[in-house]
Parts: sequence; structure tokens; C-alpha cells
Amino acid sequence: CFCQVTGTLDDCACDVETIDRFNNKEIFPKLQKLLSSDYFRFYKVNLNNPCPFWTDHSQCGLKYCAVKPCTLGEVPEGLKSSSYKVLERIPIIIQFLALFVQVLSLNVCPCSDETRQALQEWKKHDDESDRFCMLDDEDSPKSQYVDLLLNPERFTGYKGPEAWRIWNSIYEENCFNLFLIKGQGFYRWLEGLCVEKRAFFRLISGLHASINIHLSARYLLDENWFEMKWGHNVSEFQLRFDKELTEGEGPKRLRNLYFLYLIELRALAKILPYFERPAFHLYTGQHTQDNENKKLLLELLHVAKSFPLHFDETALFAGNNKEAMKLKEDFKLTFKNISRIMDCVECFKCRLWGKLQTQGLGSALKILFSERQIDAMPNTSNTNPSFQLSRQEIVSLFNAFGRISTSVRELENFRSLLSNLKQ
Ligand code: FAD
Repeated sequence: CFCQVTGTLDDCACDVETIDRFNNKEIFPKLQKLLSSDYFRFYKVNLNNPCPFWTDHSQCGLKYCAVKPCTLGEVPEGLKSSSYKVLERIPIIIQFLALFVQVLSLNVCPCSDETRQALQEWKKHDDESDRFCMLDDEDSPKSQYVDLLLNPERFTGYKGPEAWRIWNSIYEENCFNLFLIKGQGFYRWLEGLCVEKRAFFRLISGLHASINIHLSARYLLDENWFEMKWGHNVSEFQLRFDKELTEGEGPKRLRNLYFLYLIELRALAKILPYFERPAFHLYTGQHTQDNENKKLLLELLHVAKSFPLHFDETALFAGNNKEAMKLKEDFKLTFKNISRIMDCVECFKCRLWGKLQTQGLGSALKILFSERQIDAMPNTSNTNPSFQLSRQEIVSLFNAFGRISTSVRELENFRSLLSNLKQ
């Protein structure tokens, strides 16, 4: 089967068969359970941000693109009351107060060296500069809660020049011009690039592959007055990933999906100490449920950590030299730009999941490249961590990984459907 990708992945010491087994048996079931909980299913998002890059986009009239936001009554009290925000911000508030006291006790003009140094310390905790992704302002009246379980990622019919413009813009303008060289020689050319640029392309291509697997796995098969029938469309899947039908590109795109999987899995393994702190709560206001969810989340992260063949992110941006730093900055800016392009996606359902998945990948990258802050994190509740994740980052991180994990699981379903067809 063309979708039976095998062997070792490029730039990783990991084989695809190990990922398949590990994901389908160990990760996928636990993750599905976790993502159905209130903390993870309600995602606050602004789907009305204007596109920052072009103004001539058309209105999407496709009915399958509609997103139904939650009414206030549907959102758990704990999330609405914004108590979680207070909990989330306690360490920052303490830090701010400490700094304020420090500035007062210095009794000096605000531009003195001591104050500047104290402000510098404060800035270290403002993690905007560590981000790889633009986040929506959750306090904006335009941001709304969406129940992800009621608005699943699936076939919407969004295609043609509008969809291509988004993908083209991502690859051509925002992937270090990686797509300017197209056709047969592309992958050979890619091999000649530095590992960071190759990794960047693979992440985006993996995300693209995942979206296209989902739309093939939850395709609109039939529709009448009473119901819509969604399910696997094998020929749609073949069209997108069969070696013969994609000039040999399909299996490479699936390998990129596995690469993305490894990157996000590695981030989950690394972030375990952050969630293990007693001060961390998956707060929705339902005490028993919240505690159970935290237990499940920690179980999942321990499983993620037990994976034997993790991607070695230290191979990226190695060294402290200027060139490596510049590359990391470019990487960050480029990725931020891609997250802004999501506001140009006309189909609201595609925009919702596109935003969530780029934010989730942005959170994973932030984790991977914050090793020092995570290692320095105290495990007692009364000291403040120098590393922070907002609820939006946490929800998007786990849901984005949920999408990739589901795609890997769907490949198994397609393999068995294809083999049934042959018999
Ligand atoms: P496209 O998928 O549009 O691809 C364009 C070109 O990119 C291809 O011709 C090929 O040369 C190249 N390409 C394709 N796949 C890869 C890859 N993995 N790696 C590298 N290059 C590749 N549609 C839905 O039905 N449901 C959704 O939820 C949905 N979400 C979307 C989210 C975003 C952010 C975007 C931009 C689009 C989304 N779409 C969704 C549309 C979908 O991705 C396709 O664009 C659409 O189905 C048209 O497909 P296509 O065959 O024309 O090729």
C-alpha cells in the first residue's frame, strides 16, 4: 500500500512502525478521552480578525464551513468566571508585586541602573518574545468559545484558488522560499539545505497532510433531508497520497506527518514538570472532574516521555553563534507569519482548525526551545515558574497533537480499507 510508510525517518533515529504501534495503542485512546473533557473541548478564539495580507478575499458561502460558537450557558462556569485566569496569573502577579516593591525600596529615579536591571529581570518573564505564534486576545469581545467536539474538522468543500492562495502563500513566501524550486528535484534540493529549514518545511507539509487526511476520513458521503453521512472516502485519499497520482510526492508527505508527530510528542515529554507542579490546575470549576483530568493528563505525559526514540531538538539551532541565533529568529518570525495567514482562510471551520493547529505547533516549538526555563522550574507551589503557558496555548497544544495522532490512526484505517478493496 502506498500509505504503508516504512523505515527510518529523515533527520530522526526513529522508524515509522514504532510510531504507529506506540500511537495507536498507547497515546491515541488516552488522548481522545482527555480531549473530550470540558477543559480541552472549549477553545476561545477570535474568528473575526481581518486578514492582514490581502483585502480582496471572497465570502465563503459553503454551509459546511459554518462554525457554531457556544452560548454563554454552554460554557462551564469556571471558565467563564475567569478564575482560571487569576490562577494562571498568580505567579506573574507575585513577580510584578516583588518588582514593584524592589523599585520602591530602591527609592531612585526610574531610569537608574538598578531599576533598569530590575525591569530587565521582569522582561524575562514576559514570554511574548519566546512565542512562535500569534495568540488571540482572549479578552477581546470578538473572541468566542467554540465547542470543538460539536465543530469537528472534516470535509468542508473549501478548495480551488482561495485554498491554493493560502497554501501557496505559506510555502512560497513564508517557508524560506522553499517552494520556489518545484517538481522532481525538490526533495533532492531540500536535502542540501540546513536541517532547520528542512525541518520547517516538513512541519508545514506534515500539517497540510494531516488536514487532507482528515477531510478524506470524514468526507460527506451522502446527504438527504434528514441526515448527512460522513465517512472514509478512499478515492479522495488515494488522489492526495498515492505515489502514482502525486508524482511520487504522496508517501513523502505522509513521512512529514510522522516528523510533525515526533516534534509534538517531544514537546509533550519535555513539558511534564510544568504540569506536575501542585499549583497547576486544569480549572473548570468542577473540582472532582478537574482533579481526574489532571491525573489523566499526567498519565499521558508519562507515556509520551517513555517513548524510546524521541526527536533530538538540540540538533536544531546548535551553538550559540550569531548565525544560529539569527536562524532561530527567522524561524520564529516565519512561523508567526504563518499563524497570521490563518486569519485569511475564508472557510470558518478551516480557519478554526488551522488557527488551533498552528497555535498548537507554536506552543510545541516554544516548549522545545525553552529547555533552560523548564529545567529551572521550581516544583513547589509558592515559587513562581519562569516558564508560562496560557490556557489557549495548553488547549491548542493538546488538541493539535490530537489531530496528528488521529491522522496517524486514520492511516491504519485507510490501509485496511484499501486492502479490503483489493480482495
Ligand atoms: P491542496 O491540498 O490545496 O494543495 C495545493 C498544492 O500543494 C498541491 O497541488 C500540491 O502541489 C501541494 N501539496 C499538497 N499536499 C501537500 C503536502 N502535504 N506537502 C507539501 N505540498 C503539498 N478542506 C476541508 O475540506 N476541510 C478542512 O478542514 C480544511 N482545512 C483547511 C485549512 C487550511 C489552513 C487550508 C489552507 C485549507 C483547508 N482545507 C480544508 C482545504 C484543503 O486543504 C485543500 O486545499 C482543498 O481540499 C483542495 O485540495 P487540492 O487537491 O486542490 O490541493
